[in-house]
Amino acid sequence: MIKNKLSIKDFGKDTDQLAHVDLNDLTPLPPPYDKVEDEPKWKELKPEYREQFECSLDDTVALGIPKPKTPGEEKELVDKFVSGLQKLFQKENNWPFLQQLMLTLEHCAKCQTCVDACPIYEASGRNEVYRLTYRSEIWRRIVKKYVQKKPFASFTDGDIDLNWKTVARLMELSYRCTICRRCAQTCPIGVDNALITHELRKVFSQEMGIAAKEIHEKGSVLQLKVGSSTGMNSEVVKDNIDFIDEDMSEITGLTIKSRWDVKGADIMLLHNAGEIIAWPENPGAFAIILEAAGISWTLSSDAVAYDGINYGLWYDDAQLARVAIKHAQAARKLGVKKIVIGECGHAHKALTVIADRVLTGDLNIPRESAMTLLEDIVFSGKIKFDPSRNNFPVTLHDPCNLVRLMGVVEPQRRILRYLCPQFREMTPHGVHNYCCGGGSGFAIMSPNNFQNWRVAVSGRKKLKQVLDAFSDCPGPETKKYLCAPCSNCKGQIRDILQYYNVKEKSNIIYGGLVELIVNAMVDVKPGFISWDESF
Ligand code: SF4
Ligand code: SF4
Repeated sequence: MIKNKLSIKDFGKDTDQLAHVDLNDLTPLPPPYDKVEDEPKWKELKPEYREQFECSLDDTVALGIPKPKTPGEEKELVDKFVSGLQKLFQKENNWPFLQQLMLTLEHCAKCQTCVDACPIYEASGRNEVYRLTYRSEIWRRIVKKYVQKKPFASFTDGDIDLNWKTVARLMELSYRCTICRRCAQTCPIGVDNALITHELRKVFSQEMGIAAKEIHEKGSVLQLKVGSSTGMNSEVVKDNIDFIDEDMSEITGLTIKSRWDVKGADIMLLHNAGEIIAWPENPGAFAIILEAAGISWTLSSDAVAYDGINYGLWYDDAQLARVAIKHAQAARKLGVKKIVIGECGHAHKALTVIADRVLTGDLNIPRESAMTLLEDIVFSGKIKFDPSRNNFPVTLHDPCNLVRLMGVVEPQRRILRYLCPQFREMTPHGVHNYCCGGGSGFAIMSPNNFQNWRVAVSGRKKLKQVLDAFSDCPGPETKKYLCAPCSNCKGQIRDILQYYNVKEKSNIIYGGLVELIVNAMVDVKPGFISWDESF
């Protein structure tokens, strides 16, 4: 095992485990989280597991790929990998991403400006295996030598051995990046290292049938089969929304009734269905606000269209297209004027940015972020607010997909500045934010000890930012609210706060934006936000 000195050659070597995360190397957190001896210990991978599955990258495993049993099986998988890589560079197979991929392949100046932008690399104590340009260089050399078959590639572009170890490690390594694209933002040339992660995952999924179970089998496949990756069919989702409406009516003193399948409504609201199960107050708060503002809105009970989740965004273009088309078809069937996407960052990017490449003609329905709709409502004068109800410290997490990758930066801030007297920004924020650490599917992935890694390493910079934002009132005597208008980010934040016992030590709770809006509504009974039941 090599700790911090890794060469490209090492990547293909037949060693057990390439790299190690030492808890002493992780970047320090502020007190009282600063003692290494208090850092939760990681679960060890069992020897019998290591015998059966590929665990050759670092101390954790995201995919759990069974080890090939024969050299023949290994060769078959390596060949499939090369064949998948070839397709990435064929226009008919990869027209949506080919241009940017070529730029990324050919124009990296190897200046290393981007590496310091990566929260994972930094939080790990600059562990070489997580240096994004290390991953990219491996990919680049493989492409030059085995896909483009450039004469003398080993001399002009650097050598690499392509064997099963190389491929197995690359698979895992493509799940050590949250695709937050903070690195891409800093590159002076426009090279996109996150795209390499995305394209690698795509080859593994579309060509080799290998993907994280949580985002494929239990995600996209279940969603397309049943209607939602939560497993809810349309009857169950309606029942659950009925319960939420009843609860909301009781809590607020208003009569709340969500609307289903209203033909010709102005907007079709698309929630991440995980909200309905895990944070019912979020869809509940949306219903309260839309009703109070007199908006013509509806939910769709068509399979898939009541769940904005689209995990294909992170690993598989075909899955992304299938789900996006279902969303658009449901809106077209209802004849709504537009789709509004609720508090879910990846659903935003999937349906508004990437789906632009597939939703053409009749399916090209206007799509809008809930952030801009909420801003319009809050400042329309249709609802009366009492900001003093939100007079506690509030900070804002910027979901990467929504903010850096789409530019929806100000609407949520204008709302918070108006409704939360003690709102303060994190440093850095907006398009320069740090990922929650749960991006690209990590928030729902906890196989083996992967949760240790995604919280302690991947989520570390976010926790530090949150604690720093509340450094003027760090103790548990002050109630503090972390606003995270994204379902996946909330899942990761929930896990970070639990892992480090943050509720008890610092009294920080988390929730969405709509909860703060409802909490300040004069017509609602005081105390919509519950400080005891947030997780
Ligand atoms: S991706 Fe851009 S910033 Fe990073 S090393 Fe290459 S040229 Fe430099
Ligand atoms: S996309 Fe984010 S996590 Fe991935 S390498 Fe770039 S900065 Fe790091």
